[in-house]
Amino acid sequence: MKVPFLSFTPQNQAIRTPVLEAMSRVFDSQWYVLGEAVKQFEAEYARFSTTTECVGVANGLDALHLALKALDIQQGDEVIVPSNTYIATWLAISFVGATPIPVEPNPATYNLDPALLEAAITPRTRAIMPVHLYGQACEMAAIMAIAKRHNLYVIEDNAQSQGATYQGGITGSFGDVNATSFYPGKNLGALGDAGAVTTSNADLAKKVRTLRNYGSQQKYYNEVIGHNSRLDELQAAVLSAKLPMLMEWTGQRQQVAALYNEQLADIPDLHLPIVAAGATHVYHLYVVRTSRRDELQKYLTEQGIGTLIHYPIPPHLQQAYRSMNFKVGDFPIAEELATTCLSLPMWPGMTEVEVKVVADAVHTFFKS
Ligand SMILES: *Cc1c(COP(=O)(O)O)cnc(C)c1O
Repeated sequence: MKVPFLSFTPQNQAIRTPVLEAMSRVFDSQWYVLGEAVKQFEAEYARFSTTTECVGVANGLDALHLALKALDIQQGDEVIVPSNTYIATWLAISFVGATPIPVEPNPATYNLDPALLEAAITPRTRAIMPVHLYGQACEMAAIMAIAKRHNLYVIEDNAQSQGATYQGGITGSFGDVNATSFYPGKNLGALGDAGAVTTSNADLAKKVRTLRNYGSQQKYYNEVIGHNSRLDELQAAVLSAKLPMLMEWTGQRQQVAALYNEQLADIPDLHLPIVAAGATHVYHLYVVRTSRRDELQKYLTEQGIGTLIHYPIPPHLQQAYRSMNFKVGDFPIAEELATTCLSLPMWPGMTEVEVKVVADAVHTFFKS
């Protein structure tokens, strides 16, 4: 039996009718950019995020970029970022001319290690960008306390963790201004690119709203040099139709993770995901680690089982950042993760049989 890395089949079946109805309402409305569907989704996603504001934008990278821009972070500023994140977090910092300052993750949770933060702070530091990687909330109490002590902004990269919590607070509500992505494969996915900024600061929300629409609040009056980064009506309507299902789908992801945890627990050279005290994990990805990663991936591919590596090259070793002169060994935890991590199939509605096929194949591999 083949098992893909990701299937939209159960999700799409569950919301086929409401999504297609929502799309035809937009079609019939004859209003396709910045209309009622965007307004409605922004209100719903703000409520979900327990923030007063949500601003829909074109994608997650733009959400990060416009969040930094709204905070007036610029050339000469430093922004602390995980050494092991998806490159988007770093790119957003580079877009505003600031310098990404990598900090290593906790090797058990893969999230920013609060104990290492203070050593990275300099007089130029303006902000910390925690990334709730793979779906697990960062240790936000410690991160917020450090930010407060040093008068730094916090911008959460919440692209992978919609609905995760830390000590009861939902991700995307802790930072001054936070970014998320509705890329199709994310836990709340659109049918194309989409993203949002969440904040409870009305002034920052207004800045992002202006920046996403040509730097203009009133048509043809441009206050700042803005962007065209709007969430479109069709995607907003799709997201509104899917949002009511998100926590049910999250529960299904957590069930899949629990089955994997149970069935893979007895393999010595296989590290399973660990959830930090106070945090919840929404399993955007189910990531295991092994020193035999490449062989395991090859074996699973031969068995028809899809896997991916998140991520094979840490940002500091990417060609794009060669001008920063980082070298191998500079961020050993991120580098170790890049060579040992493997994401197993995971999607809401993945069946027990499918999980067992994957787990059995992993067992067979380790017996060889
Ligand atoms: C997906 C992702 C982004 C970027 O989102 P896009 O919508 O693809 O631009 C940013 N950060 C992280 C951690 C992501 O996983």
